[in-house]
Amino acid sequence: MAYDATTAGHRPVVDLADRRALERWRPAEPEVVEEARRLKEAALLDFGLTESVVASWIYAKCPQQIPTTAVATAAVVASGDGTCPLLYNPEFFVRLGLAGVKFVLFHEARHLVHRHLFADPELREDPLFTLAAEVSINHVALVRLGRTGLPVLDGAPTGVDPHEVHRDYAADLTDQGLEPLGYDDFVETDMTVFNELKRMKHPPTPPVAVCAHLADPGAGADQETIDETVSSALLNTLLAARRGHPGAEQELLDLMDRTDGTSEHASKVWGRLGAGTLRGETARTGKVDWWQRWLVDVLATKLREGERLVYPKKRGALLAALGHDPMLSRRGAEREKVLVIAYDTSGSMPDWVVEWLTKLVGEIDGVSAHWLSFDGVVMPFRPGERVYGGGGTSFQAVADYVEGRTAVGGVPFEETADAVVMLTDGYAPHITPAEPDKWIWLITEGGDDWPDHHTPQMACHRVTTGDR
Ligand SMILES: [Zn+2]
Repeated sequence: MAYDATTAGHRPVVDLADRRALERWRPAEPEVVEEARRLKEAALLDFGLTESVVASWIYAKCPQQIPTTAVATAAVVASGDGTCPLLYNPEFFVRLGLAGVKFVLFHEARHLVHRHLFADPELREDPLFTLAAEVSINHVALVRLGRTGLPVLDGAPTGVDPHEVHRDYAADLTDQGLEPLGYDDFVETDMTVFNELKRMKHPPTPPVAVCAHLADPGAGADQETIDETVSSALLNTLLAARRGHPGAEQELLDLMDRTDGTSEHASKVWGRLGAGTLRGETARTGKVDWWQRWLVDVLATKLREGERLVYPKKRGALLAALGHDPMLSRRGAEREKVLVIAYDTSGSMPDWVVEWLTKLVGEIDGVSAHWLSFDGVVMPFRPGERVYGGGGTSFQAVADYVEGRTAVGGVPFEETADAVVMLTDGYAPHITPAEPDKWIWLITEGGDDWPDHHTPQMACHRVTTGDR
């Protein structure tokens, strides 16, 4: 997925998954590499500060960022081993300057999001869809980054100009005696661009290699890796939004407006993420249960205090100039949040609930998860392991362990939990934990949701356990 409009048609000259080969291949002058790296870091820090929380998270999940002349421009490659290296040509970045580098990095990150939301192979094979993606990505980049034009390289704008494509489209439709949409309606969603381009009698052919790697699936667009990286970035952006980060909320809402409901797959992705809570709506697909959205929301609240996504107050270019890695800023001094998930082996929690929760928890950055199974006693377990129930059920056993009064196999729980999720049918003597506001109860169907009307009341929701 390379931002590539100037040197079209070039196939990669080395294996893009081979980091050493990439760095060895005709390296640029050291001072060019250094300047390019500085520009890249300054751009990424600006994303985190103000411009694109989503892109900031995506690059945080692409820690390999490799200057190489083996690509003509820049590309985020999703390789089969689950990593997403960013490859960038240092000379290209230096010629672009900071504004241009930001545009290109935003463009590349957005490609991954686009690919995640519109994964349908039939769409992907349509060259017009490729062009439509360029149009909508560049439209969003212009708006989001507050630009009036594409980045300029050697005096000429580079990339697909959405306004130009729209002018051609309007002329084509007018020639056919049809009514074209105005620019704003034309670019309203990612799919309107595609659908409107299809109405053209002579649709424009995309520049040969607008995105070299998209045209060459062998060169690194592994769908699973893209899905993993992007869904994790979106989830963390959603959590940041729920914790009160206005930039994250705005960007996510914009992105949802452009994509949710425009394809079945996109709606499913948003529904699964539980992002409906952001705008107080149910996703259009009926498949996602309310409790899942509810849990994402509640977790965000419980894990809030001590915001981990800490941005430095001063402009990041300064930090970058001093040689600091801008990504450090998001680690901050904040300790990891501790999440306990306790699973009642006497209840009948379907496997998919545990699987879903495992994936969700695994994708939340800055959280360490402790999984417990319990009946009358507590046993730590790893998700995926079989857990066996014994006799009796005791919530108190969980509270005693989590609050440090008992040990398992002689080992006490030495952390302070920020949130405790209880998966249970609710049938056991009621308890009042030391910090009830940290407890979240997920009750199986037919179970007893007493924590909902306990004093003090605790976060509680019924899990729908029907067919999946
Ligand atoms: Zn592109």
